[in-house]
Amino acid sequence: MPKIKVKNPIVDINGDEMARVIWDKIKESLILPFLDINLLEFDLSIVNRNNTDDQVTIEAAKAIKKNNVGVKCATITPDDKRIIEYNLKRKYPSPNGTIRNILNGTIFREPIIIKNIPKIVNHWNESVVIARHAFGDIYKSREIDIKKNGKLTLKFESADKKEVVEETIFEFDSPGVGISYFNIDSSIRDFAYSCFNFALNRKIPIFLSTKNTILQKYDERFKNIFEEVYEKKFKKKFQENNISYQHRLIDDMVACMLKWSGGFIWACKNYDGDVMSDLVAQGYGSLGLMTSVLQSPDGKIIETEAAHGTVTSHYRQHQNGLQTSTNPIASIFAWTRALSHRGELDKNKELEDFAKKLENICIETLENGEMTKDLALMVGPEQKWVNTTQLFETIKKKLEN
Ligand code: NAP
Ligand code: MG
Repeated sequence: MPKIKVKNPIVDINGDEMARVIWDKIKESLILPFLDINLLEFDLSIVNRNNTDDQVTIEAAKAIKKNNVGVKCATITPDDKRIIEYNLKRKYPSPNGTIRNILNGTIFREPIIIKNIPKIVNHWNESVVIARHAFGDIYKSREIDIKKNGKLTLKFESADKKEVVEETIFEFDSPGVGISYFNIDSSIRDFAYSCFNFALNRKIPIFLSTKNTILQKYDERFKNIFEEVYEKKFKKKFQENNISYQHRLIDDMVACMLKWSGGFIWACKNYDGDVMSDLVAQGYGSLGLMTSVLQSPDGKIIETEAAHGTVTSHYRQHQNGLQTSTNPIASIFAWTRALSHRGELDKNKELEDFAKKLENICIETLENGEMTKDLALMVGPEQKWVNTTQLFETIKKKLEN
């Protein structure tokens, strides 16, 4: 069978532990036998990040920026235990954070829907895609402890010192706490562009949630910027594709999300996205079926990954020579989404079809009852499971036919 020719490269970011074992299997059995592709490899294992003083992470991000498409394996974000385990020079930051800052993108978390895998929210037949604005708000806040009586104020002074705005927040006559945070229009605007481009690409409607009834300046700014970008740049294209945009109050949105059956993007402010992405992931059941895409505002650059981590508990078994039943599906979908985007940018229909075919084979295999332990446990005690190697063999065989 002739391999499909892929003209432009994909940035291939390797990682750690069990996720790395699966990564190598995906390339060896599902990608390289079928595609004539140039993979620009970056080793982001914790060992290599330590050896390069984390430069490799920055280089990987720059390579994605240059080549538009990256696919990333899960990596260890070191804590104190990992520093000892790997004898690290320092506590390196999360590579995902470093890459996100360089690409200035939005993260979209999207579950893979499998008919026979029960979900906690049973009527979510399509994905609820969560988009999180990962800048500012409480994550860049300043807090203070109030110990004495006195006045807490919020003050802005212009750089030329000609303009000063000061608001009294509270007059304390007993101890308490205070907080202040911010956001910037350009970041909100980039977030809006990312969201609208993603919605257009997937042809699904989008909702932005805020609490603008309470935060009449702060959250109102999010609402206004989204509305402005939508009216000026997207409304026509949305109408042509029969999709819509709406702003909703966060309380209303939470109720709708539970009531509806999925099939939309929910654009969340930073904290809401942090919380809701975990809630929605749990609603769909398994981390092994959750994907994550980082996309630039213009929709051109993407980096895809599985939402789960390096699955350390399974890696310990693997190190002891045991077979594991680790779910590779979200990692495979990271590859298919990256390949599909490469295909779209290069106008390579054959590559797009290959990605779609591989996704369909994965779904069909699970729906035929061949699945890993994490999913089998959700189906029930009667459901048999296979180990990771067996699942790869089935998927590969189907792909060859
Ligand atoms: P994790 O790797 O996602 O694993 C948590 C648990 O979820 C596992 O012990 C396993 O449960 C289950 N699980 C997750 N993915 C699975 C899969 N594909 N198949 C089957 N079961 C799966 O999270 P963690 O244990 O908290 O973190 C481990 C390491 O990953 C940490 O060093 C962390 O820094 C890193 N991490 C990286 C990323 C990333 O790169 N994006 C994200 C999160 C965490 P059972 O043990 O019950 O089978
Ligand atoms: Mg969270």
